[in-house]
Amino acid sequence: MNVHQIVDLSFDVNLYFVDTPKPVLVDAGVGGDGRRIATQVREMLSGRKLQGIILTHRHFDHVGGAAELMAKFSADVYASSGEAPALIRGDEVTTGAVSFGGRLVPIPVKILDYDSTFDIGDGGLLVIHTPGHTEGSICLYHAKSKSLFTGDLVFTDGNVGRWDLSTGDFGQIVRSLEKLVGLEVQNLYPGHGPYAERDGLDHVRLGLQVVRSLQR
Ligand SMILES: [Zn+2]
Repeated sequence: MNVHQIVDLSFDVNLYFVDTPKPVLVDAGVGGDGRRIATQVREMLSGRKLQGIILTHRHFDHVGGAAELMAKFSADVYASSGEAPALIRGDEVTTGAVSFGGRLVPIPVKILDYDSTFDIGDGGLLVIHTPGHTEGSICLYHAKSKSLFTGDLVFTDGNVGRWDLSTGDFGQIVRSLEKLVGLEVQNLYPGHGPYAERDGLDHVRLGLQVVRSLQR
């Protein structure tokens, strides 16, 4: 499995093209940079079909571009049961679309069950429920390559996502990070900023250390 980071330059947010026999995109960006992103995705696909766009959580900077990419690649969009209702009804408040000054087109997402595995033709992506940043946030884990996509739960260098936004919860952030430190993680692919290949788990541990220090 190869992973290519695509940065949405209209709001410094990451998408990932997961390059396998059944390629998928993790997150969809804010949408302002959609044309350039679609061109990149088309090149990476080199004739293959995009199997899906998996949204780590509902926030507008990760989902604003979903409708356009969905149409361009005739791909299904997936989200967890905790996030799907807000996306299906085009909720502009809890997705943060209003604060971004954007419009959220309702997205007819398909539901990804927690603890299910999404087949990517080279093993699968395990859907781990990691609430705290939003109630239905997920991380995706590819055991075969020890890769973890964390959305906005945890970034590199101990940075942790916000818990003060709608449906966020600090205690759940801590418990979600505790869940992740039990995994073998070599590669960490967060929703913002740089990714880490080799020492992924160290970054997750550092994030947990930071939130635990705030708990005291
Ligand atoms: Zn977010």
